[in-house]
Amino acid sequence: MRNIDKLYINGAFVTPHGDARADLFNPATEEKIGEVRLGDETDARSAIAAARRAFPAMARTTPAERAAMLRQLRDTVTVHADAMFAAMTEEYGAPHYFTSFSVAHAASIFDDMAKTVESYAFRRRIGQAAVTMEPLGVAAAITPWNSNMGFIASKLATAIAAGSTIVIKPSEMSAIQTQVFTEALHEAGLPAGVFNIVNGYGDVVGAELSRHPDVAKISFTGSTATGRAILTAAAETFKRVTLELGGKGPQLILDDADLDQAIPVVAMTGLANSGQACIAGTRVLVPERRLGEVLERLKTFAETLKVGNALDPEVSVGPMVSRKQWDRVQSYIRLGLDEGATLLTGGEGLPEGLERGWFVRPTIFTDVNNQMRIAREEIFGPVLCVIPYRDEAEAIAIANDTVYGLQSYVLSADQARARRVAAELQAGRVVINGAPHEPLAPFGGFKQSGIGREYGAFGLDAFLEPKAVLGPAE
Ligand code: NAD
Repeated sequence: MRNIDKLYINGAFVTPHGDARADLFNPATEEKIGEVRLGDETDARSAIAAARRAFPAMARTTPAERAAMLRQLRDTVTVHADAMFAAMTEEYGAPHYFTSFSVAHAASIFDDMAKTVESYAFRRRIGQAAVTMEPLGVAAAITPWNSNMGFIASKLATAIAAGSTIVIKPSEMSAIQTQVFTEALHEAGLPAGVFNIVNGYGDVVGAELSRHPDVAKISFTGSTATGRAILTAAAETFKRVTLELGGKGPQLILDDADLDQAIPVVAMTGLANSGQACIAGTRVLVPERRLGEVLERLKTFAETLKVGNALDPEVSVGPMVSRKQWDRVQSYIRLGLDEGATLLTGGEGLPEGLERGWFVRPTIFTDVNNQMRIAREEIFGPVLCVIPYRDEAEAIAIANDTVYGLQSYVLSADQARARRVAAELQAGRVVINGAPHEPLAPFGGFKQSGIGREYGAFGLDAFLEPKAVLGPAE
């Protein structure tokens, strides 16, 4: 049994003032595997105070010093990769392809931010003005459970790159991963108070960070509903706010797409991490004249995916993170049937051969129209909706008919055509034919998928305040 009973404040692991405890489970077995003791408002305030004390020295560091700090963090994360894989499998039931991607991604974020700092123009001359990009002050990060280390890494790296200090409140559901990750980060030996990590409930620690007057910046990743609450709380003191929220990503299969290549990409874009991804492509838009062959191939592909405990190396779809999330996904599957959609594959209940664990059968609905709730609301599970369209204009209209706008996908044999369609999509990112992630390109949402961008220079901009001093150059 893991007993996580410390917070990380001012460079040390300390006992929380708060005494609430949350149970931790292995979602593949439903067994309780530990407990985390949670911080409260007092703990949040001590972390903010530590970050505030560390800020003046951090703000004076040079970009080269900050790049060196970021590379130290990358190195210590890399050294502890095995412990992180194990923690992710234990706590999320995540398959190895996903845990290895996540840890490598977290380490590379520090490297990418080091490169960004080295090339970023912190001092600019604009006409008669000397413009400097200044750190905002103490930053706070609030992160979700579904990719814990990546989100902590991204927000921490950007704060350091900017010369800020930071208090991070991860999801209490990923406390084991947070603990292993924090131990690795601690070994980098950064000055005390530069980063502080406080486990706690959102409406306690998260809410305190969102309203505290000494916090200048909030970087949040999570649901659209929570983002709205944080933005409202932050308005009181005009904090700078970056919000990375939900999505209902469309995947536009154009009529010339090579289905041998497209189908595995489409299926895994919707089902990776069991659909527990903000960037999941959960609406599959298919030209009417190719509907039959797309459905046949999608069904065959989905039914070859092995669902189960990730300790089995053949498993590619793990469980939902929690019983609550399992219930929620089951209720969406029932809703889809009630709304008149048809199951192509999957459905309610546990996959065949499994008796326990919060597993969901990879589920594909057909006969879906874009007005149904299953096509409009984020389900956050392995559930795809196939929506037919008549022509390209209709496909684009359906893709954009959503409150979200995070990441969209186009599949076509013709790159120029795919780019033309991409230009019409209202989304912060558009991926053509499964192109790989570009770590320095901006990431973030249009519409209710968020405010602001992360990664690279765009991410760094959001942690800095431009200041212009007018007068002739020296
Ligand atoms: P959530 O919104 O429930 O929780 C996210 C974090 O906010 C947690 O740490 C939680 O404790 C905290 N929180 C909750 N209430 C709060 C409050 N009132 N004040 C301050 N903090 C509060 O989200 P989740 O269920 O952990 O994660 C899933 C959601 O995250 C999905 O909607 C998904 O789309 C979204 N997400 C977005 C991105 C992105 O980059 N756009 C990435 C991953 C996940």
